Amino acid sequence: MPTSGDIEKVVIIGSGPAGWTAAIYAARANLDPLVLEGIPKQTPALMLPGGQLMQTTEVENFPGYPEGVDGPKMMEDIKKQALRFETRVEMREVTSCDLSKRPFTLETVDFGGDTKTVTAHAVIVATGATANWVGLENERRLAQSGGGVSACAVCDGALPAFRDQPLVVVGGGDSATEEATYLSKFASKVFIIHRRDELRASRIMAQRVLDNPKIEVVWDTVVTDVLGDKHVTGVALKNVKTGEESTLDCRGFFAAIGHTPLTEFLQGQLELDDKKYIVLEDAGRSLTNIEGVFVAGDAADSVYRQAITAAGMGCKAAIDAERWLAEKGIE
Ligand code: NAP
Repeated sequence: MPTSGDIEKVVIIGSGPAGWTAAIYAARANLDPLVLEGIPKQTPALMLPGGQLMQTTEVENFPGYPEGVDGPKMMEDIKKQALRFETRVEMREVTSCDLSKRPFTLETVDFGGDTKTVTAHAVIVATGATANWVGLENERRLAQSGGGVSACAVCDGALPAFRDQPLVVVGGGDSATEEATYLSKFASKVFIIHRRDELRASRIMAQRVLDNPKIEVVWDTVVTDVLGDKHVTGVALKNVKTGEESTLDCRGFFAAIGHTPLTEFLQGQLELDDKKYIVLEDAGRSLTNIEGVFVAGDAADSVYRQAITAAGMGCKAAIDAERWLAEKGIE
């Protein structure tokens, strides 16, 4: 076990399904991994380390939980599994890094503001992404209380509270069209609230929405409030062209206005695309443009963004790191 000042064999940054799965595999391969699990943050809901699942109520699509499981409980279970194999964990956030030379250095800070430099031969980035929110006070409150506000239709859309109910999706991109199409299987009606008069989504996904009789697009319109005390009962709307204000009854509110990958600290160090997702050297693997730096989960995935795909990528990253360390003679 490295002592202070030693070089870690592998440091895993992030503690969602990608990070913990990477830790399980790395620990079982005797790599003695250190997980930097992040520090609590305030997004719409208070977000403890553990990623987006810490904000999810029930997860019904992760294999192995036939009755479904709460997002935070699932993260606790995966973490417990990683700790069983002697993964070490520190509640620290990486604020910057130097990946230009090996061993790599990571500048970190804890919740109290204490800083520490961590040095590592290999790094697995599993910092994930965060959903963008409209930024309304009641959106935050109802997301926090599990009152029918979500940023993931695939995660939450099939829950009983949303079945046969009118639902609202905000956005006009591929996420919004995909989520609306998905929700239309359960909802009585889905309203897409879009701020312009044209969808940004790919033509095929846009057409699918326009052809779906259960989906109605409300054009040139923004949501100005989410209504409801304990649970969403509707939204307040404003037409941006006419200024007309109205309300619309609904039982669920889904923000689908994009995600922001948590890669700020990698800027200038690792190749990122124009939306700041980490670029994979080889699709299907976990290699980045820097040898010895691997990636897993939503920080490199704008398409699938599922707990199970993130976990699968975590497994790949740990195996890739293990093989690379062995090649370099770092046992
Ligand atoms: P996106 O393409 O950035 O679209 C975001 C949408 O939200 C836009 O329509 C934007 O409006 C709207 N928006 C942004 N901020 C807003 C705000 N504050 N209030 C109201 N509306 C707001 O994000 P995305 O749809 O999540 O897609 C991200 C990437 O993932 C894209 O490259 C997409 O192709 C990909 N993706 C692919 C799939 C798939 O292939 N199955 C599924 C999902 C996502 P404007 O149009 O006016 O800018």
